[in-house]
Amino acid sequence: SQTVDDAAALFEVTLSDAPLPETDREAALAAPKFGTVFTDHMARVTWTSATGWGNRRVVKYGPLLLDPASAVLHYGQEVFEGLKAYRHADGSIWTFRPEANAVRFQKSARRLALPELPTGDFIGAIAALVRTDVEWVSSGDEASLYLRPFMYASEAFLGVRPTLEAEFLVIASPVGPYFSGGVKPVSIWVAEDYHRAGAGGTGAAKCGGNYAASLLPQMHAYEMGCEQVCFLDASTNTAIEELGGMNVFFVRADGTVETPELSGSILEGVTRSSILQLLTDRGHTIVERRILLTEVQEGLRNGSITEVFACGTAAVVTPIGRLAGEGFDLTIAGGDAGEVTMSVRTELTDIQNGRTPDRHSWLTQL
Ligand code: PMP
Repeated sequence: SQTVDDAAALFEVTLSDAPLPETDREAALAAPKFGTVFTDHMARVTWTSATGWGNRRVVKYGPLLLDPASAVLHYGQEVFEGLKAYRHADGSIWTFRPEANAVRFQKSARRLALPELPTGDFIGAIAALVRTDVEWVSSGDEASLYLRPFMYASEAFLGVRPTLEAEFLVIASPVGPYFSGGVKPVSIWVAEDYHRAGAGGTGAAKCGGNYAASLLPQMHAYEMGCEQVCFLDASTNTAIEELGGMNVFFVRADGTVETPELSGSILEGVTRSSILQLLTDRGHTIVERRILLTEVQEGLRNGSITEVFACGTAAVVTPIGRLAGEGFDLTIAGGDAGEVTMSVRTELTDIQNGRTPDRHSWLTQL
């Protein structure tokens, strides 16, 4: 199979004529504001139905040229991914399970009738970009370089049919620790009037439209005094699905850990599957099933559910300290972070940052 070196070597690198001066870059890395500052370069691969994937390159970061009739601007034919590059204590740079993101990107693309990017090109683009912008991978504690691969329908055509041209890019933004003042539990509002996805829809794909659909319910959650929104299934409005950008777990007093099954309208998180593995390794009983809101309410009231947490690439693991919705407001673990929650968070971040052996071979060196 193709090595990372072979895949990266296919990318032609043209260095920026105006990289950020070192002092400015160091300042940006010292106080990163996620998603506002980007590295000097971006990776890019172009697809046409006639020629397939080609023109693999790393170029100066900058605006894209878009025809106003580009299909993405009208019909939202777009998919994306999110993962991180970590600098270990010895200076080496790694990503966490990038093949899983590559495969999810292919599944998302299939659902949006976009071309599937080969795993080699996905990882090759990431490696070529990170190697070019290697100085942007901070060595700071819990700091990393967030990588955003994405693809959009670039064909200038207003007919409603799958695009015949697409662009794939990877951009990168430095991030600091998600919780700068120590891990803090979040409050969750359970949305009963809005859904992010339905049966047969695009919920299992990472496409921009899902996030557009989550913005208004997220605003409503803020108005109700909560930081994040939890969605229920659209068919029955009774089963817990996930948050706007994170999967959710419930820990029971007997050590059983439960998470909503992959219903077809939930995004299969890489963090979710990693946590399922780590908790299985520890001997926890793991149950992936349909979980009703009423069961969770009852479990929190009678103490049989002791911890609730959310997980995703950005925050890794976030304790949930409060679950509220129409007619209920429940405090979890006294509003603190639970023990299983915090220990699995530590275990996962230790693996990602090279502080503990990578026994599942989850890391890929760039
Ligand atoms: N659900 C949704 C809707 C998300 O956007 C994300 C973030 N990609 C997740 C779950 C968590 O996925 P991951 O662990 O791969 O970041």
